[in-house]
Amino acid sequence: MPTMVGVTNNFDYPVAIRDKDLPDVQAFRVEAHELCTMCGEGFGIGYLRRPAGDLSRIVGANEWPGKLTQILAKDHRQDRSHKHVIELDN
Ligand SMILES: [Zn+2]
Repeated sequence: MPTMVGVTNNFDYPVAIRDKDLPDVQAFRVEAHELCTMCGEGFGIGYLRRPAGDLSRIVGANEWPGKLTQILAKDHRQDRSHKHVIELDN
């Protein structure tokens, strides 16, 4: 099955994917969910290639939603549309 544009095979870090795109993504398990504070669009957060397992054992997992909302707010400040896949690795 083809994957959506922008998704590579080598993600080994969390990404956020728009709710509307989630049905098109293979092997993605939503570990967390967050809404854009500006426009309300929903994003699922997780790993593309493997289940995260117990989130409480992943260093920084509790920071993913906050990191995502900052990225989304920045998109609005810079008048950009949200990306289909947002990498949360940094
Ligand atoms: Zn937004």
